[in-house]
Amino acid sequence: MTQILSPAATDTSASHSVGKSGGPNAPAPLEFHTKPTETIIPAAHGYAEALKAGTIFRLVDLHGLQIIDMSAFVLPYAYGSIASAEHLSPSYTLHHTRGTPITVGEPIYSNMDRELLRLVGDTCKTHDMTFMSCFPKMYEDRGLPGHRSCAQNMVEAFSRFGMQGLPEVREPFNVFQNSPYFCKKALNCSRPGDWVEFEVLLDCVVGWSSCPFDQEGWSGGTPTDVLVVTGLSKGENGLTSDYEMSEDTYKRIYGKGKHE
Ligand SMILES: [Zn+2]
Repeated sequence: MTQILSPAATDTSASHSVGKSGGPNAPAPLEFHTKPTETIIPAAHGYAEALKAGTIFRLVDLHGLQIIDMSAFVLPYAYGSIASAEHLSPSYTLHHTRGTPITVGEPIYSNMDRELLRLVGDTCKTHDMTFMSCFPKMYEDRGLPGHRSCAQNMVEAFSRFGMQGLPEVREPFNVFQNSPYFCKKALNCSRPGDWVEFEVLLDCVVGWSSCPFDQEGWSGGTPTDVLVVTGLSKGENGLTSDYEMSEDTYKRIYGKGKHE
């Protein structure tokens, strides 16, 4: 199953369940994908989904050099209270790694010091755990008012899970971001098709943003679509999934077959 979200579709703010029932908004039950489900996130936009513990998801940089900001909130929490929900925490994770980025087999922790996601596959091996999401004022200060930002993408992506504004955006794990402070490689280094996989360790809602930051060479100067595949399970190696992009999806993305 492949979902292709149009940019407009990511801007919805419909009321939604966040893992508890009842209350004035009478949230509907959360839906979890239990079968492999591909979602193409449009360039410079965001997307969020509820994920079940025990499943795996994969993020794919379809065209190379694209940073993907990632945030997560642990379920359940009452609709409208995302600001106080347990969430993914780069700084708690850095406490456990003594300041270095995580490698395959290591978890990302929550701000309650619980293992939330585990990195189980990684073809790029360069990510950032130190910087905030790009935000509207950052672009305004550069004379670019109205420029898309990861922070606003997160608000839009999590709006159906109760997020209302920028103050509720948490510090992200920046997939494929190469921060020169930690690494001497060239700015950004993911190649077309590079991917990471995470195992979900606690039921949660996870959001991703194709970073719109197109200044100074970041994201290759032109943000691009990325792919998230949720509902995966462990493959034969017991760690990563056995997911392979279907020929149909490959053609839809690249305009030609895998071997054409
Ligand atoms: Zn960004």
